[in-house]
Amino acid sequence: MAESAGRTLGDEEIAALERVIRSGMLSSVWGTEVRALEAEIARMYGSRHAIACGSGTAALHLSVVAAAPDPGDEIITTPITDFGTVAPILAQNAVPVFADVDPCTGILDPGSVAKLIGPRTRAIMVVHLFGAPAPMAEFRALADDHGLALIEDCAQAWLTDLPGGRYAGTVGDVGTLSLQQWKHITCGDGGLTLTDDDELARRMRLFADKGWDRARGRSHESLGLNYRMTELQGAVARAQLAKLPGVLADRRRTAVQLIEELQGLERVRLPRPDGHAWWLFPLVFPGGEAREVAEKLREDGIPARAGYLTQTLNHAPVLNAPIYGSSYYPLEGYQAAACPEAERLVGDTLLVIDWNENYTGEHVAAISASVRAHCR
Ligand SMILES: *Cc1c(COP(=O)(O)O)cnc(C)c1O
Repeated sequence: MAESAGRTLGDEEIAALERVIRSGMLSSVWGTEVRALEAEIARMYGSRHAIACGSGTAALHLSVVAAAPDPGDEIITTPITDFGTVAPILAQNAVPVFADVDPCTGILDPGSVAKLIGPRTRAIMVVHLFGAPAPMAEFRALADDHGLALIEDCAQAWLTDLPGGRYAGTVGDVGTLSLQQWKHITCGDGGLTLTDDDELARRMRLFADKGWDRARGRSHESLGLNYRMTELQGAVARAQLAKLPGVLADRRRTAVQLIEELQGLERVRLPRPDGHAWWLFPLVFPGGEAREVAEKLREDGIPARAGYLTQTLNHAPVLNAPIYGSSYYPLEGYQAAACPEAERLVGDTLLVIDWNENYTGEHVAAISASVRAHCR
């Protein structure tokens, strides 16, 4: 089970690249590919705006810019996610506040978030971890009750279905997507934000293009960087987007097969398939033997890892290091608040198996046999 397997790159992506290179225009400022990608993704998601940028992390940075925290304001998020969720909070001089997670899914727990909302809270950043749907109705209500921005990180959750028939990424004020190498679809690196709000869209577009409103000449309205996606990325992403529904269907079919084959194991808690996009396949061992089992699965050639992270992000070393120059602002004297459920998942109970769209019934049988052999 080679880790490079499971991509869907082929002739369509080559043709897309050739089309762009022959056109002589590689920049999305003047090209057509990235604008077309944005329109296609906005249509697929039923969002008013889709804004392309260079990575999922850049998309999350744009989402924080849209939420417009003052320096020192707080954004509540999860300690189990890619660091790309957290870095943009720090980049905007805001404070990441880590709430605890659901011990079954590792997803941010609305009850834990509610307890941490205070006078400086500006936003909640929810992650649809491993492709499973976060409880968005509860987060939406919480954000509305307290006047907070709600951001959905869907980097692992392309086309995750929420109850009521919406896609993950369309309930928050901003949703974000990633096109990094190992996400459902890829152009190497790339990202997008989704929003229905014209003003937030304007803020994000300006930030991604040096604060430059090109309708007004060479004039800079607001602080911005260059987060533009190139036409090469955009064209490959469009070819990949056409394959996305098939990728989802294939991942779902084999993941559901594995769930069926693993029924009845007492020491393992299986993921719920509802709406899941299966970026990874998580297993939870409430007894704490995830590390031991992961090692045995790896010996059998199964791409399994315990914990997903080395440590929960409330304990990331960067939070006790200078951020700009020698300044620790806004985290001077940072002391990690405990997130016991998250820490137990990452330390003892969570195991993730790499998933991909090229798995066959044989892969599922091999994984199932190995899990069954080591989890009796
Ligand atoms: C991959 C990922 C990111 C960052 O995306 P990049 O495209 O790698 O910058 C952010 N959040 C989550 C949950 C991710 O999985």
